[in-house]
Amino acid sequence: MKHTDALDILQNIYGYDSFRPQQGRIIDAVIDGKDALVLMPTGGGKSMCYQVPALVRRGTGIVISPLIALMQDQVDALRALNLNAAFINSSMSARQVAETEAALLRGDIDLLYVAPERLLMDSMLSLLSQCTLALFAIDEAHCVSTWGHDFRKEYMGLSVLHEQFPGVPRIALTATADQRTREEIVNNLALGDASQFISSFDRPNIRYAINEDGNAKEAMLRFLDENHKNDAGIVYCLSRKKVEDLAAWLVKQGRQALPYHAGMDATTRAEHQRRFLLEDGVIIVATIAFGMGIDKPDVRFVVHLNLPKSVEAYYQETGRAGRDGLPANAWMSYGLQDVINLRSMMQDSTADEQHKRVEHHKLESMLGLAELSTCRRQSLLAYFDDELPKACGNCDNCLNPPITWDATEAAQMALSCVYRTGQRFGVNYLIDVLMGKDAERIRRFGHDKQSTFGIGAQRSAADWRTLYRQLIAKGLLSIDLGGHGSLILTEQARPILRGQRSLELRQISRSESSSKRKKRRNVEQVAPQDQPLWEKLRALRTSLSEGKPAYLVFSDSTLVDMVDQRPTNHEQMSAVSGVGKHKLEKYGDAFINLIREHDMFSDYDSVDGDEVHQDSTLNTIT
Ligand code: ADP
Ligand code: ZN
Repeated sequence: MKHTDALDILQNIYGYDSFRPQQGRIIDAVIDGKDALVLMPTGGGKSMCYQVPALVRRGTGIVISPLIALMQDQVDALRALNLNAAFINSSMSARQVAETEAALLRGDIDLLYVAPERLLMDSMLSLLSQCTLALFAIDEAHCVSTWGHDFRKEYMGLSVLHEQFPGVPRIALTATADQRTREEIVNNLALGDASQFISSFDRPNIRYAINEDGNAKEAMLRFLDENHKNDAGIVYCLSRKKVEDLAAWLVKQGRQALPYHAGMDATTRAEHQRRFLLEDGVIIVATIAFGMGIDKPDVRFVVHLNLPKSVEAYYQETGRAGRDGLPANAWMSYGLQDVINLRSMMQDSTADEQHKRVEHHKLESMLGLAELSTCRRQSLLAYFDDELPKACGNCDNCLNPPITWDATEAAQMALSCVYRTGQRFGVNYLIDVLMGKDAERIRRFGHDKQSTFGIGAQRSAADWRTLYRQLIAKGLLSIDLGGHGSLILTEQARPILRGQRSLELRQISRSESSSKRKKRRNVEQVAPQDQPLWEKLRALRTSLSEGKPAYLVFSDSTLVDMVDQRPTNHEQMSAVSGVGKHKLEKYGDAFINLIREHDMFSDYDSVDGDEVHQDSTLNTIT
């Protein structure tokens, strides 16, 4: 009975066919008045898990959310479905607050968003005690954990909900995976009796690729040209200067790119963020300061031009791509300098021993992921104790299995060059010696008389850099911080130098890297001959968006479905995924007319288009 209500809401209001497997179970539990802890990856559909029960149960659903920007987004999305949603926060005037409170008391609000500090005010708690409450949803529940990086002390106070409103079910939701965070959420929010719903953290629609060396900028541009001609995406790099330079360079290449970092003034930053959200196809070049609180569903790619400092950070940042479930790319390029930086950071750390061990482990894992020759996704998920039984088929290593080579002899040369020059020099100098470069500095130290001088001339400097990077990443060399980044042999280098152990390394072939790489077909959302219609639908969506993000009208996946189904009447239109009753009434005719008109005029040249159409639509995510 209840579930019929829930399903009815899903189909009529949201315009979707069915709940995702976990959603159904969670929604049933909350409708039954039970507490729940929900761990689900970004894009998994967490919002539905509290919105639907809030609509089914009597009274208002209170949603606790840490960021005003997120509240605005969610409320806009709900209002676009004709639901009574509101928020109360510090951006509002006293009068607006009073009006919203009055509506709340009248029982006119289905879902109310508040920040924790507001919720915990005595006045707010006493107001709520006079209302019928459907549930409390605690969004971004990992903010209650001191372990993570988003700790918010107000979240600690939320355990009062349990004491003051014992009859109201609570549902805590987060996309942060690890065991320790989970335990802290349960303890700090008094959720000991809650049912736990833990989904796999896999994001199957994201294709992971990690590239090494080469010209990162050019490689990125090639990647964008091949895969993302007009798509929105985020490019992360570490320094503000690099952000500025890269954004300017991308603009020169004809891209709409905007910089974003903490050193910019707040107005410009807000403007860039606004354009990213509202306009189609904007690229944001940012330091990691960008992302939290950005809920844009159609980010098609995330690029890293530096190694993130942990696998958690990598997962979180790449996770901003493809929230809508459509194919997306996570593309990274990194080099020797990244490895040196990470290693130095680790050695330089002033943290206590216990903390250092944790940091060490994190950096080691990130390097391990970067240098991996097997499935990236399996390794990424394993890091979060989430098992993927088979290789994924949707990462660079699965698609183009790397070739390994016996690097023992080359490694011996590289390591012995470090040894013979006294473990006092950095990579560039070592490479010069190996290549036998005629340099005053080398002669001054007498290294031109060493046995390693010139023994590596048959390889290129770039190859030696790669090799040194791999040796550092594998822990055979460490960095001496006092000595300006000189390389030092570690214990592990010994058996290699003595010929007691061999070394297999991943082959980096530069020429092959881009040309042979299989072009990503399934990132194209629509077949080439449907591109004109797709563009028209997107333009129509923007023209109807009234200054709000265009995806609030219809999401990309809804437009893709429209291109596929070509609805020409209301009944067909309501069968399109994401078209509920309200949006059908509001926008249905405009889109139907556009599709009719388009198909009428393009009938002549689409006679032989069928076959292509069939096989290049996107149901190819595996
Ligand atoms: P999360 O908060 O977990 O990142 P969202 O709640 O934003 O994810 O949902 C991600 C996307 O999936 C949204 O576009 C949402 O409308 C869509 N979605 C959620 N549940 C379903 C469903 N049962 N069927 C189809 N689409 C869904
Ligand atoms: Zn894989």
